[in-house]
Formats: sequence, structure tokens, C-alpha cells
Amino acid sequence: ANIITTRNVRLYYGDHEALHGIDLDFPKNQITALIGPSGSGKSTFLRCLNRMNDLVSGVTITGSLKLDGKDIYSPQTDVVALRKKVGMVFQQPNPFPFSVFDNVAFGLRLAGIKDHKLIQERVETSLKQAAVWEEVKDNLTDNALSFSGGQQQRICIARVLAVHPEIILMDEPTSALDPVSAGKIEELLLDIQDKFTVAIVTHNMQQASRISDQTAFFLDGKLVETGSTKQLFMAP
Ligand code: ADP
Ligand code: ADP
Repeated sequence: ANIITTRNVRLYYGDHEALHGIDLDFPKNQITALIGPSGSGKSTFLRCLNRMNDLVSGVTITGSLKLDGKDIYSPQTDVVALRKKVGMVFQQPNPFPFSVFDNVAFGLRLAGIKDHKLIQERVETSLKQAAVWEEVKDNLTDNALSFSGGQQQRICIARVLAVHPEIILMDEPTSALDPVSAGKIEELLLDIQDKFTVAIVTHNMQQASRISDQTAFFLDGKLVETGSTKQLFMAP
């Protein structure tokens, strides 16, 4: 089953057409890598999936984008609810400037969950899934910004996992990190794959081949090739 399906997605920044009719589906429990040169439209496309482009003025988007069969761009769409189902992790770790615990609990509290025990359990599970629990468990009340960049990024991943999104969008989540931290993130993505679905933009072909099930190659705002990562990266 596909979590998200897109058909003939076109996006214009003013009158510049940045996406020229993209068709791409995101199968449940798979990691889809979006690769291609800088400026090819990967990030623009990713941002269509949780309506982040809505924030930019002069943007026009046409085509069909569906989450669980429902139109993402319907006037009925609750964008805040959409962004809980479609979580996002950015290139630069962006924890809120308060405690690790409150970062990870943030989305749960926003969702109206009041049961402190439940919040505690969810925070712990999410930090474990994000492979950062051991490093933060004795300092959960410390400001998230006091941790290293790699730890901050894994705290941000835990923050997204905590709200149980249907799909997690990641825009070059490891390119601001050292190789060891990047490796930890690759590993945790493989570990959570039975529970989550991921779309990851990466400029790193090796990373795409190591972690993704499906690869989509972007070039000049077009999707030039989509397929199983194993087949696409197999030597001819
Ligand atoms: P990638 O993620 O593959 O590097 P982008 O999606 O960032 O590519 O960019 C695709 C194209 O859209 C580029 O030509 C870029 O200059 C243009 N673009 C991206 N963001 C904006 C914006 N906010 N306003 C105008 N043009 C933009
Ligand atoms: P919003 O500003 O739409 O209300 P929230 O502040 O409710 O978004 O964030 C709720 C959860 O979603 C947090 O765990 C946060 O990490 C994550 N999040 C923050 N910004 C975004 C975004 N642009 N897209 C998706 N998820 C986001």
C-alpha cells in the first residue's frame, strides 16, 4: 500500500516551473531516497508533501497529491493535523530551546495528551527508537541545545517519531553532521523501518544505496528514473 501518491505535480515559483509533472508513490514501511543534482527540485517536491511551500508567496501547485487517499491540497485539509501525519526533519538540527523531554513531548501535548505517564513512556520509546536514549537519559531536563549536533538531530527525530507520523520527510538530515553521527542516523532509520515510512532527500548516492528501498532520480525538475534501489544501483 502507498501512504502518499502523487500524479503530474507541477510547481511554479512565480512563472518559473520548478517541478514539471512528478509522479511518485511512497510505499508503506519503505525508505524512498530522492536524489539528483542541486537545484533539481528534490527539496521543493518534498515540501509539497506537507504543504510547506504554502508558506512561500507566489507558489502555484497543480496535480494530485494524496495521503491515505485524501487530497493533501483539499480546502478541507487541516494543515496542522497534516503535519502531524507528515513529519519533517531538516538539514540543520532545530530542537526547541528547552529541555530534551519537553522537545519530544511537544507534539504529544499539542495533541492534547495530558496523561503524564503516557507522555513519559512515549518520550522514552521515541528517544530509544532515535538511538539517543542512552546519551540523554540522565539529562532529560537539560536544554536540548546543550547536546552535540548529532545528538540534537536524533532528538529532533525522536520529536517527530513521538507523534507517530504516517510518513517522515527528511531533507538531507545527515549532511550537516560528522560521518559517525550520520552513520547512527542511517542505522536507526533501518531499525525503525517496520514501524515508519520515510522519504529522504540526499545528495549522497552511497547513502541512498545503503538505506533506501526505492530511489527517485530528479533532474531539472523532472523525475528521470524511479525504481528499486537494488536494481538501480546494480552494476550493469
Ligand atoms: P534541490 O532540492 O534538488 O537542490 P530545490 O527544490 O531546492 O532543488 O530547487 C529547485 C529549483 O527551484 C531551483 O531552480 C531553485 O533555484 C528554485 N527554488 C527553490 N526554492 C525557491 C524559492 N523559494 N523561490 C524561488 N525559486 C526557488
Ligand atoms: P505546526 O507549526 O504546524 O503547529 P507543530 O509546531 O505542531 O507544527 O509541530 C508538531 C510536531 O511536528 C513537532 O514534533 C515538530 O517537530 C514537527 N514539526 C515542526 N515543524 C514541522 C513541519 N514544518 N512539518 C512537519 N512537522 C513539523
